[in-house]
Amino acid sequence: MRMQQLQHSVIGGLKRLGELSGLVSTPLQRAITMAASTANPKGPYSQHNPVGLYDCHAHMTASTFDEDRSEVLAAASSLGVAGIIVVSESTHDADAVLELAKQHRGLIYPCLGLHPVNAQKGGSADEAELRPMLGLIEQHAEKLIAVGEVGLDFTPAVVGKDDDAAAAAKASQRAIFTAQVELAKRLGLPLNVHSRGAGHHAIKLMVDAGHTHALLHAFDGKARYALAAAQQGFLFSVPASIARDPQTQKLVKALPITALVLESDSPALPAEKQARNTPAAILTSLRMIAEIKGMTEQQAAAAVTANTFKLFPKLLSLQAGNSRV
Ligand SMILES: [Zn+2]
Repeated sequence: MRMQQLQHSVIGGLKRLGELSGLVSTPLQRAITMAASTANPKGPYSQHNPVGLYDCHAHMTASTFDEDRSEVLAAASSLGVAGIIVVSESTHDADAVLELAKQHRGLIYPCLGLHPVNAQKGGSADEAELRPMLGLIEQHAEKLIAVGEVGLDFTPAVVGKDDDAAAAAKASQRAIFTAQVELAKRLGLPLNVHSRGAGHHAIKLMVDAGHTHALLHAFDGKARYALAAAQQGFLFSVPASIARDPQTQKLVKALPITALVLESDSPALPAEKQARNTPAAILTSLRMIAEIKGMTEQQAAAAVTANTFKLFPKLLSLQAGNSRV
């Protein structure tokens, strides 16, 4: 199906949200219907109508995009990607994430958070970065769509194989994650969560903290944990690597459509190994979800977009702000 047709039917689908009863709450339903009715196909961001498709997790500040970032973003929006939720990993890339969102207002929506893995040095995140990151999140809360990328990574490559060292690393990650979950809760912001080898632990930590308004990205835990979490309101984003990953296919099969949204995790998790991933890959995720769920692409698109607005309610208010300027 051509993207234009798909976008058109997404608008139609969202206007008929009554038919998708149970997907969204009534006030949200009204807000989406309003966004759909005021969608302006002209204007500086003609492709980014308020009801296109959303990439819920991407690393667009990665240096691999330094040569052609604008072209990559333009290519995604020409294919109907209406918004890209960009996460930070540390205090080092926080400014770059905010700057990118400023440059691409109406397309890029920022999240700030301290990732459980220290990308520079390897191993777990540096605890010394927690306090500055909490300060940045608080300072920029108004602009943020969520707190992320935060979470837990208990894979041996990160926490080490020595039992004592691994236990210390896990405790440190828990402390860093908990502080950010509590701040997000206080600020009323959702969470954009990484969990590797720790899906069940990450879910339990958020449930215990009383903040379950969260996206679990590229979830690699057991389907039964995911299903229980979905029943508590957690959402799960599906990367394009689903095309080659039976475990993700199994996860999508197990979860209700109301728990699914799209992500690229660019530049990681491409449909074809070794390739550099880009936000346009969410079309592959959509196609796979539609296929597994036995839905048309239009139905799947309307559902995941409604789920995205439910997950990140600020998308609607920020878009309303953008259309005024
Ligand atoms: Zn990520």
